[in-house]
Amino acid sequence: MSVVFERSVPGRRGVRLPGCDVPLAEAIPEKCLRERSAELCELSELDVVRHFTGLSRLNFGVDTGFYPLGSCTMKYNPRVSERIAGLAGFSQLHPFLPQLRSGGMLTQGALQLLYELEHVLCEITGMEAFTLQPLAGAHGELTGMMLIAAYHRDKGNRRQTVLIPDEAHGTNPSSAAITGYRTVPVPTDTTSGRLDLEALEALIDDETAAIMLTNPNTLGIFNSDIERVVELAHARDALVYYDGANLNAILGKFRPGDAGIDVMHVNVHKTCATPHGGGGPGAGPVGVRKHLVPFLPISRIQKRQDNSYMLDYDQPKSIGYVAPFYGNFSILVRAYAYIKLLGGEGLVEVSENAVLNANYVMQALKERYALPYDRTCMHECVLSASRQAEKGVHAIDIAKALIDRGYHPPTVYFPLIVKEAMMIEPTETESKETLDAFISAMLEIADEAEQNPDAFAQLPKNAPVCRPDEVKAARDMDVCYDI
Ligand SMILES: *Cc1c(COP(=O)(O)O)cnc(C)c1O
Repeated sequence: MSVVFERSVPGRRGVRLPGCDVPLAEAIPEKCLRERSAELCELSELDVVRHFTGLSRLNFGVDTGFYPLGSCTMKYNPRVSERIAGLAGFSQLHPFLPQLRSGGMLTQGALQLLYELEHVLCEITGMEAFTLQPLAGAHGELTGMMLIAAYHRDKGNRRQTVLIPDEAHGTNPSSAAITGYRTVPVPTDTTSGRLDLEALEALIDDETAAIMLTNPNTLGIFNSDIERVVELAHARDALVYYDGANLNAILGKFRPGDAGIDVMHVNVHKTCATPHGGGGPGAGPVGVRKHLVPFLPISRIQKRQDNSYMLDYDQPKSIGYVAPFYGNFSILVRAYAYIKLLGGEGLVEVSENAVLNANYVMQALKERYALPYDRTCMHECVLSASRQAEKGVHAIDIAKALIDRGYHPPTVYFPLIVKEAMMIEPTETESKETLDAFISAMLEIADEAEQNPDAFAQLPKNAPVCRPDEVKAARDMDVCYDI
């Protein structure tokens, strides 16, 4: 593959602009003119189409193959959501359009959609209110931690620390630290795979601002002690943050709000099948219980008595804006469409099938790969390449072997508490045939690891980029391309 500039041929054109049919503006002042030509690519339309189609084929996505990247919930993004988000009434809205009814009819539908999405998220999670502003899961965490800080400040509580289980996603400690808290890890019980309650009890004190909890946790295990955790925290006026990234496993089965959770976020690109982008655009709505509502970001969407909608900025205790305008509107439209498309029963089926698929894969592979926590899993299972590692074939080598077979690898080396971890999340949108083919590939790889472990060092052989020196790539990165 070349870069597009290498294909440039002087004088070649893709489009020809029509002759100018309006009077020319006065001459541009000399000092504003460029000194050198812009050196743009000169290409035909076909050159451009071939170049970018070629690039797109080097990429891997849910639309091209199975993508069991644990914790990321890489499920199929239904096309109907794209169609709906593309409707002109949504896609052509400008954030400065008037929101009030007098002349504001253009935005009433958009406000209604946001209002209803907030409320349906409340229904799914049992929380009191939602803000749709945060732009990703991690941004939702940061918003949640800011709400917790605002709560303690308002009460005059002096709190310094946030307790975080050692299996948590790395964004949890980051979000707490950026908010200004010191983070304290809480160990996981090595037999149950759940938070060690005794250790937690010993660690909670009058400096604890919050506990951050992921449930099901990153080992794919549901923590049924959650109410006890909440009780322990609330007894010290510490709040409980629920990382809702794994909501896909519990839709219609368990509502964090019912367990007394104070704040949570939802990753709509995981649960509601909105596209995952390279860092965006995303959305990470945050839900809170009653005592945190006054601190939510502005603006809040309110419904008036005459059933019209308005944006309310009069929230004196609000933490302010966490994103420009109203969040990633078009992503929120897709999330709304997805929820409406499936309805209550459909969402329950999503979770049931996600959990069934993960258990199916786990059962099929546990003979050949170590299973550190051998119990029914939720939407993902964590295996380990520890047995293969004895022969010199590590989780990363198995990942490369999967790439050669046309699969996106699972998440490897996370959670950190499992050696040689391979975290597999099939999601509910995959068929049994796909799961069976993936299982066969994994079993074949296990055979090869026994018979020919040395061959793995050369993999992948079929990928556009083969085996870069990962240490050099991290420490001595050079992303310049010399033509
Ligand atoms: C994905 C994920 C996050 C972070 O969400 P982003 O939307 O990627 O910022 C946080 N916690 C867990 C458990 C996750 O899986």
